[in-house]
Amino acid sequence: MPAEQHTNIKVAVRVRPYNSRELENHNQRCIVKVMDRSALLFDPDEEDDEFFFQGTKQHYRDITKKMNKKLTMDFDRVFDIDNTNQDLFEECTAPLVDAVLNGYNCSVFVYGATGAGKTFTMLGSEACPGLTFLTMRDLFEKIQMQNDVRKFDVGVSYLEVYNEQVMNLLTKTGPMKLREDANGVVVSGLRLTPIYSAEELLKMLALGNSNRTQHPTDANAESSRSHAIFQVHIRITERKTDTKRTVKLSMIDLAGSERAASTKGIGVRFKEGASINKSLLALGNCINKLADGLKHIPYRDSNLTRILKDSLGGNCRTLMVANVSMSSLTYEDTYNTLKYASRAKKI
Ligand code: ADP
Ligand code: MG
Repeated sequence: MPAEQHTNIKVAVRVRPYNSRELENHNQRCIVKVMDRSALLFDPDEEDDEFFFQGTKQHYRDITKKMNKKLTMDFDRVFDIDNTNQDLFEECTAPLVDAVLNGYNCSVFVYGATGAGKTFTMLGSEACPGLTFLTMRDLFEKIQMQNDVRKFDVGVSYLEVYNEQVMNLLTKTGPMKLREDANGVVVSGLRLTPIYSAEELLKMLALGNSNRTQHPTDANAESSRSHAIFQVHIRITERKTDTKRTVKLSMIDLAGSERAASTKGIGVRFKEGASINKSLLALGNCINKLADGLKHIPYRDSNLTRILKDSLGGNCRTLMVANVSMSSLTYEDTYNTLKYASRAKKI
């Protein structure tokens, strides 16, 4: 297996702090213990020292309860609750900006159940800007620094895959058709919006976000059932030789990975769930096969993977950030997310 292949997909796990609902629940416990920079322990035994210092056992222990899994899992990087978006940027996406400017297509995915912290990681807030802001600012700074030797033409697109339909979030139009041509998959009628500064680019991001499909479900009022694909297309022209090449940086806020069965949806909701799983499943399959160094990659299995065909595998750099809560209240989601992430990590 070519060594180069493995290093092209990096998998990071990010653990978020308890939210207020989790804090208020006294029957929950911590099920993700970060061991070091690259390992975590899933479902550890309950902390003995907690009981020792408090003199009594606080938790009701059910003797019929299953054994704790105590699974040690390794990733390229594990970020604990005190790590910031800036930490993730510096360690994970700043190197991708360099890779993009060196001619590699790069993609960043945030994966996880609804409420696990995907959007916080990708978009963040005014006070704590997320990976997209930090990465785009860095990209434009680096472009500026190289401006006398290279010319850069930058354009953005922002697409949403919702129910396997592709919508243009910048123009609020669609569904758009995908077609294959000699260069790969093309989104019919997609025009890139030209961009001259980081500010302009962030304005486009905000515009697209305001057009995202948000459907409240029983699982979480802020649940997002769509995949949002923000792409920066860069044409790099070497001033001396006039040689040109085009690269792409894609940042993808995936739909919640919780199974359709766990949201009490019927009818349209159920269909959403089914196709979200289709895209996530297809993405997982593609990433697994890439990690295994296989030749045939099933990009055609979903619209998400078709759109990202030229940004996954081969000469691309991929980062997957798997977001989890550390609370036992989301035990199944966390377990499934970690399993998905470690399959992506599997070599
Ligand atoms: P998702 O997009 O995966 O559904 P969100 O990113 O919307 O989840 O996160 C759910 C809630 O948790 C939000 O209120 C968010 O601000 C908060 N949150 C998520 N991750 C963190 C974190 N690392 N630190 C602090 N708050 C977080
Ligand atoms: Mg979200």
